[in-house]
Amino acid sequence: IVVVENLVKRFGGFTALNDVNLTVAKREKIVLCGPSGSGKSTLIRCINHIEKHDGGRIVVDGVELTDRMADINGVRSEVGMVFQSFNLFPHLSVVENCMLAPMKVRGLSRPEARERAMDLLRKVRIHSQADKYPAQLSGGQQQRVAIARALCMQPKIMLFDEPTSALDPEMVKEVLDTMVQLAAEGMTMVCVTHEMGFAREVADRVVFMDQGSIVEEADPETFFRAPRTQRAKGFLNQII
Ligand code: ATP
Ligand code: MG
Repeated sequence: IVVVENLVKRFGGFTALNDVNLTVAKREKIVLCGPSGSGKSTLIRCINHIEKHDGGRIVVDGVELTDRMADINGVRSEVGMVFQSFNLFPHLSVVENCMLAPMKVRGLSRPEARERAMDLLRKVRIHSQADKYPAQLSGGQQQRVAIARALCMQPKIMLFDEPTSALDPEMVKEVLDTMVQLAAEGMTMVCVTHEMGFAREVADRVVFMDQGSIVEEADPETFFRAPRTQRAKGFLNQII
């Protein structure tokens, strides 16, 4: 569903991604890890076309992402994104946060959008907070709203960029549980996370990046037990 070929991304003279190749199959779950600055966020931002790439190709759901794309919003609406900082609209209630894009982009009526929003808020077990504002919720609750909001667009793939790293420890589990459930339902997922328990439980493949390149790829059991490169070993020693 996603094909990344020879991807290059530069910021000025700095090469943030250097010849990255990655394919994500339908229903596959990939955990992306690596040291700070290795290019993890940049890679998933390129897949969502928040960043424009300088070289190589990215194909999402059969559509190549280019500068001159006619329908970037069409592609982006198939890709759900959840950030470290929840990025909810502060002036909208929880349920309105979830209704906005389906109404604007998918053309749902207000009642249809509300029904879908409530279904997904129920799924992340936060429907009782539907009429509150984001600032009235805990971090873990806000992040579950952000997941529900992304799911309201019925995306074909979900991208997560360190969704739990801004959370207090006691809230990490509720967000990870939601992600595990989503994975079990067959969602295609690319998750930047250092939650290695999650990676072991859910990932089909762990992709390790360093200095703008993919250095190592393996199933989680192999990656954690026997990392091949010194760089991956060093990284694992630091985080475990
Ligand atoms: P972290 O674990 O800290 O989130 P990361 O692996 O997500 O790190 P990126 O955010 O992708 O790393 O950044 C990769 C490199 O690109 C870094 O050296 C960063 O400083 C640089 N970079 C990222 N965004 C920009 C930007 N908008 N302008 C200039 N440099 C940038
Ligand atoms: Mg990052």
